[in-house]
Amino acid sequence: MTGFVLDLATFRPGMDRTEEEAAASDVGLLQPEWREQVRGTFVIEQSGARVTVRGSVQSRAHLECVRCLREFDLPLEVPMVIYAERTGSTSREEQDQLERDDHMLFHDGRRLDLREAVREALLLELPITPYCREDCPGLCPSCGAELSLGPCGCTPQADD
Ligand SMILES: [Zn+2]
Ligand SMILES: [Zn+2]
Repeated sequence: MTGFVLDLATFRPGMDRTEEEAAASDVGLLQPEWREQVRGTFVIEQSGARVTVRGSVQSRAHLECVRCLREFDLPLEVPMVIYAERTGSTSREEQDQLERDDHMLFHDGRRLDLREAVREALLLELPITPYCREDCPGLCPSCGAELSLGPCGCTPQADD
């Protein structure tokens, strides 16, 4: 059983909880950034044909600092809210549009696949310009020394 593919029959009607876990590759997250397990904790609410999933997913992304070029791990925790309707309650066209515009998912009454939503939620959290830490001083422009390890001995330059 793959994590993040919910078997709806195993949950109590009304409200229930689940903890999911999968390899990053199982939710479509690829190397080199994604090497670790993805974990999720959710509250599942089933009400008629509507399933609401609330919770969060956690993982760590392996990134390279744009300032000092050092590799580091960035812990991520992303809150998620997912609404899923039963397939057949709308036309195929409407369903495509709802999936695209309102991030609504669909289930067939038995399975609800959260993998795509989990993948997107984590990808959206990746910084465009990753810093190993917010105040990373980066590399000396003259000698290339890593300034977080201490001054490099070059003449300090005036900040511009
Ligand atoms: Zn850095
Ligand atoms: Zn230097």
